[in-house]
Amino acid sequence: MDEFLGMTSHELKTPLTSIKGNTQLTVRQIKNSLSAFEKMQGMLESTERQVKLLDRLVDDLLDISRSQEQLLELSLAPCDLNAIVRETVQEQQYARPNRTITLDLPAEGTIPISVDADRISQVLRNYLTNALKYSSGEKPVRVSVSKGQENARVSVQDEGTGLFPDEQTKIWERFYRVEGAEVLSNAGSANVGLGLGLYICKAIIEQHHGSVGVESTPGVGSTFWFTLPLASSIESPS
Ligand code: ADP
Repeated sequence: MDEFLGMTSHELKTPLTSIKGNTQLTVRQIKNSLSAFEKMQGMLESTERQVKLLDRLVDDLLDISRSQEQLLELSLAPCDLNAIVRETVQEQQYARPNRTITLDLPAEGTIPISVDADRISQVLRNYLTNALKYSSGEKPVRVSVSKGQENARVSVQDEGTGLFPDEQTKIWERFYRVEGAEVLSNAGSANVGLGLGLYICKAIIEQHHGSVGVESTPGVGSTFWFTLPLASSIESPS
């Protein structure tokens, strides 16, 4: 009996030892691969950020050369301004979950306008990323829409660095950036700019027969706004 038990356990031990060894080795290899995958993931995420940044800068440069010749291509279509604003705000709320971005829409359901929705969204996105960038993380950004007789107005209000009166004019110029302007809240690739964003916003809105502006107090904050003609008040859309 003793001999039988000795032999059998020896036989059983051999595959067990091999299974144990293989399992330990596999676990170790998975751990190593996981850390390699984590490193690869980090590198890919960084590459993705750089690609986004380059993409935006190239878009800015393309837009600027087109806008100089009034050649920004617009595909106008009947749209609801409230829907464009709601979607763009939601997109930013999703991208910056740590920030408070409020939205105040007029009670009436829709605001009919005839615009290139992607371009209007681009303008609002630019205002929003600037507002988030030049105000600190705990400060809210408020977006509101109002409707007048002939125009609708979209405003983005921040409690950020604010701008002096001469800067309030110059920021709409090509390549102008406020000297020493401090980015108070990290916005990833949006931190970097060529001073083209607001120039392009102005070109887009003016090509839609609207206007842009800013009210600001240094150290208190800024409200950037744009207006667009209501669809009913447009006689000959271009
Ligand atoms: P950039 O892409 O370089 O930020 P913009 O044309 O969007 O260029 O903005 C031009 C300059 O206007 C910025 O460099 C910044 O100094 C100033 N600016 C824009 N938005 C704000 C804001 N909400 N608060 C304070 N300064 C702002």
